[in-house]
Amino acid sequence: MQGSDLAILVVAAGRGSRAGAGLPKQYRNVAGRPVLTHTLEAMLRAEPESLVLPVIHPDDFELYQMAVADLDAHEARRLAAPVFGGATRQESVRAGLEALAERESIPGLVLIQDAARLFSSSTLIARAREAALAHGAAIPGVQVTDTIKQVDADARVRATPLRASLRAVQTPQAFRFDLILAAHRKAAAAGETELTDDAAIAEWAGHAVHVFEGESGNMKVTSAEDLVIAEARLIRELLDIRMGQGYDVHALGEGDHVWLGGLKIPHDHGLIGHSDADVLSHAITDALFGALAEGDIGSHFPPSDPQWKGAASSIFLNCAAARVRERGGMIAHIDATVICERPKIGPHREAIRESIARIVDCPIERVAIKATTTERLGFTGREEGIAVLAIATIRLPL
Ligand code: MG
Repeated sequence: MQGSDLAILVVAAGRGSRAGAGLPKQYRNVAGRPVLTHTLEAMLRAEPESLVLPVIHPDDFELYQMAVADLDAHEARRLAAPVFGGATRQESVRAGLEALAERESIPGLVLIQDAARLFSSSTLIARAREAALAHGAAIPGVQVTDTIKQVDADARVRATPLRASLRAVQTPQAFRFDLILAAHRKAAAAGETELTDDAAIAEWAGHAVHVFEGESGNMKVTSAEDLVIAEARLIRELLDIRMGQGYDVHALGEGDHVWLGGLKIPHDHGLIGHSDADVLSHAITDALFGALAEGDIGSHFPPSDPQWKGAASSIFLNCAAARVRERGGMIAHIDATVICERPKIGPHREAIRESIARIVDCPIERVAIKATTTERLGFTGREEGIAVLAIATIRLPL
């Protein structure tokens, strides 16, 4: 039975890694969270009543789960289980449409959104829905400001189309569900694989496609430069800047290594504690919980709970960082001072920074590790224990 309700396909199956770092661009981090997480969040918030269905590449399932883990838990529960896409965008969209067609309640309208458009506003989504209802097939477009030339194979100008008649087209593209499903099936059956977007498929199938007003800010993240621009825009919205402090001490006792920031460092003593006694990870975890105003490491991971006996403290630190992301925020900076006579921290500093950056999933440039002694004074001076002071700066949405 077909209703007038809406489904949103978020197409995230592409392999494009033009943005660098080997990861498909939709999984690259901007302002602390993957591009896809921002896009899904925007769709879920714009359409609280609609079904949001991601289409992903089978190889990316783990990346996808990590991206969804960074959503607010309430919003993440509203996401439909992802569908696996095909080799091309066209096949991926069709896989998503077929999955919708198999649902008990088939949507009346569907929006097809690129995972890389993370700035589509709620107003744009509302316009897309209205345009689909009114016209059956509709796409957002903006006036072009550059003059566009049509050229031949020798780069010789063949024509100068009138600028007023041109539109740069964006997503979400908006359709009556039965119309676009039939058009995709027809194109697949005819072996038409060169159609660049869903509007082209609707046109090819003989439908009139209407252009509604897009948004100049509705950019698509494609290149490394786009990621920088997107990050600057997102950071601007994280206005609630907070600092948290953490302090921890563990005693030195028998052993042949210490854990510091998730790194195992050989030493003639070990740190004593319920977990792995990673005093540095503990102090940073507390600094993050402090900045969030969400208790401390002891309230999240009580030493009385046997499951934390001997646990790797990277779990605690990773969890605190995940809370920052779930709240829609990012870690701006971590700064810690390790206070001990030995082991010497300097030779391990870069490895410790790398380890912490990996655990909290932020760039190494945002992690500072310093060390000092207490001139042989006090318990640290007598090498009875190691102390750590940490500060974390985070940015949250207001
Ligand atoms: Mg501790």
